[in-house]
Amino acid sequence: MSKIAHYLQEHLVGEVMSSTDARRYFATDASIMALPPALVVYPRNENDVRKTARFTWQLAERGRVIPITARGAGSDQTGASLGTGIMLVFPAHLNRVLELDTKSGNVVIEAGINYGKLQQTLQTHGRFLPPYPASLEYSTVGGAIANNASGEKSVKYGDTRNYVQSVRAVLANGEVIETGRVSKRELGKKLGLATFEGELYRAIDTLLEENREVLETMPRNVTKNNAGYNLLDIKRRDGSFDLTPLLVGSQGTLAIITEATLTTEPLNPQTTLMMAFFDDLTSAEQAVVELRAQHDQPSVLEMIDGNVLEQVAELNPNLLKSIIQLPYPAMVLFIEFDNLNDRQQKKDVRKTAKILEKYATTLQTETEPEQQMAIMKVRQATATLLTRSDQAGRALPIVDGAIVPIERLNEYLQGTYALCEKLGIKPALWGRIGEGNLQFQPVLNIAQVGDRQKAFRLMDDYYALVISLGGSISGERNDGRLRAPYVERQYGSDVYALFNRLKQIFDPYNILNPGVKLGTTQEDVKALVRSDFNLGHIYNHLPRS
Ligand SMILES: Cc1cc2nc3c(=O)[nH]c(=O)nc-3n(C[C@H](O)[C@H](O)[C@H](O)COP(=O)(O)OP(=O)(O)OC[C@H]3O[C@@H](n4cnc5c(N)ncnc54)[C@H](O)[C@@H]3O)c2cc1C
Repeated sequence: MSKIAHYLQEHLVGEVMSSTDARRYFATDASIMALPPALVVYPRNENDVRKTARFTWQLAERGRVIPITARGAGSDQTGASLGTGIMLVFPAHLNRVLELDTKSGNVVIEAGINYGKLQQTLQTHGRFLPPYPASLEYSTVGGAIANNASGEKSVKYGDTRNYVQSVRAVLANGEVIETGRVSKRELGKKLGLATFEGELYRAIDTLLEENREVLETMPRNVTKNNAGYNLLDIKRRDGSFDLTPLLVGSQGTLAIITEATLTTEPLNPQTTLMMAFFDDLTSAEQAVVELRAQHDQPSVLEMIDGNVLEQVAELNPNLLKSIIQLPYPAMVLFIEFDNLNDRQQKKDVRKTAKILEKYATTLQTETEPEQQMAIMKVRQATATLLTRSDQAGRALPIVDGAIVPIERLNEYLQGTYALCEKLGIKPALWGRIGEGNLQFQPVLNIAQVGDRQKAFRLMDDYYALVISLGGSISGERNDGRLRAPYVERQYGSDVYALFNRLKQIFDPYNILNPGVKLGTTQEDVKALVRSDFNLGHIYNHLPRS
């Protein structure tokens, strides 16, 4: 590998590192897995990315495959920002806003830009990028695009895919493409190109045309879905064609994104926040179904269950003391409205209060930022669970991010509680109930064989439950390596075969992030599990030059 490191160092402007320190750092992300890369490249410009890809393609043509993993901040919880070959690290240099049109709110960015920084810049212009993940302060926009990230505002605004107009991306052979929706007539031109891009358009168009019946089996009745590849939004009925919705959410397995053009929304800092307590899950589910049926969607519709409150109170007795009293409710809902029209916002709140009064035992409504912060302290108390580190173990990100149809929420909650009881795991659920998308991170000691076995039994049963309810294994986070073993179970072998053909079209030598999304078994995942899971990746490893 040192020959390759030398070659790349000579030909790239950015730094190349193969030190033990750098390789050790990039051997983990925010998942339970570990996998050290052979070397680390910090591209200084798109040409560096292009040259790296071209080089590995040429090696692959001669029979030697060296994988490339594009990396943002490595906050991925599915092992998708790990790889055995070249780690291409974006935040060090490719981290700028290239253009910001303050009139339209459109922004062009480099993939490695920190999400929180971009959000701050947008906010100074009265705009924001709504599908921000909870990890925005220490993650990149490129990572959010590759993961099709979503967050607390996605119940109203949707996921990242809704905001990506186009991307510039480096293909496996080093060729650069620019995506964006092309009309039927323009597609004709693309199909005629004598380049790798032309090959892609031809092969994908044929794949979609020849497999219409298989594609019809793909949709799930869920508000967002990251499992497998999004083959459904490429070609529209009018014959227009766009690779953007496919590359968004593809976790660096089809192409490497260098730049993106994003749309944004106007920001309203004057919101109304409501907190409602429920004594039982059925009432909470009914309230959520009715709230979702309203014409104006809340901009936040989140929950925590009573188990979260109990566990937080055990770990940090003072945190909730002044805000929420015993006995704790079975569920707490957090509902926000952000309509820019003040009258409409008040109307939305009144309508919501009417719905909640039917089902909730207590309702609090706040418009002042200070009181809102006190409410959000209850929602954010989940951080206490995520950062715990004691003899019982740590909260493991192994079954978070799945999604079910809203009307199956109660079955999903009851099913998850039953699974926990069967395995002797303490449940604690929270998250984006308005989308049917919940988080659950069981506390287990991954260093112990018994707990490891439990973790894998839980994953098997949990994803089987989600699939049986018509849900998706990956609603918010993505498949990565962790959920790759379940992608075929969700869609069946015909759709899975299409995913493999798509991968083959983009990446015939399997260079781009192999083992992510496809081709990983549960045995493969077991072999990668680390014994010291922690969230050590909230700082960046930067080149020392
Ligand atoms: C505490 C915590 C909370 C989280 N909350 C959320 C949440 O609310 N919503 C959510 O969606 N996710 C969440 N995540 C997961 C993760 O943080 C986000 O998905 C985030 O957007 C990933 O960004 P990153 O820069 O860390 O990407 P990375 O982890 O570096 O990479 C993620 C994936 O993107 C690929 N990638 C990165 N850059 C590129 C590129 N330039 N071109 C092609 N592929 C690329 C990687 O190969 C990998 O497959 C959370 C994680 C943690 C630890």
